[in-house]
Amino acid sequence: MTDWKELESKYYMHTFERVPVVLVRGQGTRVWDENGCQYLDLVAGWAVNSLGHCHPVVVKAVREQVGMLIQASNQFYTIPQLQLAELLVKSSGLNRVFLCNSGAEANEGAAKLARRYGERNLGGAYKIITALGSFHGRTLAMVAATGQAKHQQPYVPLPDGFVNVTYDNIKAIQQATTKETCAVMVEPLQGEGGVNVPADDYLKEVRAWCDEKGILMILDEVQTGIGRLGSLFACQQACVVPDVMTLAKGLASGIPIGAILATEKAAVFQPGEHGSTFGGNPVACAAAYATVKYIVDNNLPDKVAIVGKHFADGLESLRSKYPFVRQIRGRGLLLAMEFDREIAQLVLDACLKEGLLVNRVKPAVLRFMPPLIITPGEVDEALTILDKVLAGMNQ
Ligand code: PLP
Repeated sequence: MTDWKELESKYYMHTFERVPVVLVRGQGTRVWDENGCQYLDLVAGWAVNSLGHCHPVVVKAVREQVGMLIQASNQFYTIPQLQLAELLVKSSGLNRVFLCNSGAEANEGAAKLARRYGERNLGGAYKIITALGSFHGRTLAMVAATGQAKHQQPYVPLPDGFVNVTYDNIKAIQQATTKETCAVMVEPLQGEGGVNVPADDYLKEVRAWCDEKGILMILDEVQTGIGRLGSLFACQQACVVPDVMTLAKGLASGIPIGAILATEKAAVFQPGEHGSTFGGNPVACAAAYATVKYIVDNNLPDKVAIVGKHFADGLESLRSKYPFVRQIRGRGLLLAMEFDREIAQLVLDACLKEGLLVNRVKPAVLRFMPPLIITPGEVDEALTILDKVLAGMNQ
């Protein structure tokens, strides 16, 4: 039998700390490894497989589209792209869409859009305020936007124009705003940064400040959007409409795609000022259209809110049982368990042995981001395994 891990260590760039499992198949909330072992998946491709693995509506949409037209370039009109654009506009309250291939690319495009806006409307203002602890992607500019030293330090000097300030602190944004500021970009809840939930009024305060200063509010909903927090977009829970919103991850339930959504006022790109070869390609768009339509038609965000509460309650019970569990936090189906010591990897390894996939987002923090279709029964199954594993940590 081929040793795939050996192949990885020999041929792949060593950029990932892999969990020692070779996954070969997925269905719903389950995945199987090369030895036929089954796992309940609370990672979901890093919050990507929103409808679970190989959902029939996504498989059907992709199959039909690859048999019809795979790629055409944006020199031409293609139907899935325009169907998706209409669906995203109608369900978000924003006015225009640009489609790309990933979260980083969506944010990079949003930053470029903000610079064009600044050039046109704000006397050349180009600086974007972002938050410490944020995560906006791996391109050089998005590393500068991402307020985490571990992502920035290896790549200095970083591109100019990003100011990282304390998250969940409107004063920090206000103090950092100058005549050179064209936008503020934040996540509604910091996922990669450790599932950090801001105060209820934070987004409203950011919105009000951006309005007061005439600068753009960019919301990075790459991880929080498409139902994950219990509403189609997280900003809806805060009753805030940003000027620009970025999406990726769960948008096509596993097929790579990213999107920039903007209001008419903010959508200032002129022909030739931005573009993409693969962005908005028919296959990714067909998958995304099928995913978003299924989520909307089946009212999945409401179900996420219910099953997410059930999950959070169960995690809270574990917290009261195990004193070394310091905090449960998150919203919808983006939840975290923080320990009072750095045992997240140990817990992850033990969960793996019990057939449960979880994510270590920080040395002392586990993150749970299952498919949005997870049932209360499957959540109970995960909780039972976590209970057993945490009991083992107690000894
Ligand atoms: N923005 C947020 C909020 C993310 O969580 C991520 C990825 O984790 C990104 C952007 C980058 O997305 P991608 O990995 O698709 O480039």
